[in-house]
Order: sequence, then C-alpha cells, then structure tokens
Amino acid sequence: MIAAKDARRIKADRRDWINYRVKCPICGEAIGPRNAIREYWDIPPDPPYAALVRCPRGDLVLVEFA
Ligand SMILES: [Zn+2]
Repeated sequence: MIAAKDARRIKADRRDWINYRVKCPICGEAIGPRNAIREYWDIPPDPPYAALVRCPRGDLVLVEFA
C-alpha cells in the first residue's frame, strides 16, 4: 500500500503541473498528470487539491496545488 505520509510534500502551481513544469524535489525529473497515482479532493482548499505522484525515477511526491 502506497502511503502519502511517506511522500515528500511540495506545493505547485496547477498550470505548471498540467504543463509538466513541476520538478521532482528529489531527482529533478519533470512530473505531471501522467505520473499521478492517486488524487486527493479532501485537502483544503478544494479544489484545487493534491496528487500523489511517482516520478520517472520512482520517488514518491505529494504535490499540493497552490
Ligand atoms: Zn524523482
């Protein structure tokens, strides 16, 4: 089971996210919607919300949208 508590948290602009301009804070690879493995609607403010992401190199990142 993948747990969000194990993920590094970052905040990102939603437009940057959609356009793959967000970088993984661990390895620097670009991340975006196709890397999301789970989406959250329950983190305020809603929406925008947050996504749990597995970056191309396997790092787990929780992206909170600004
Ligand atoms: Zn990474």
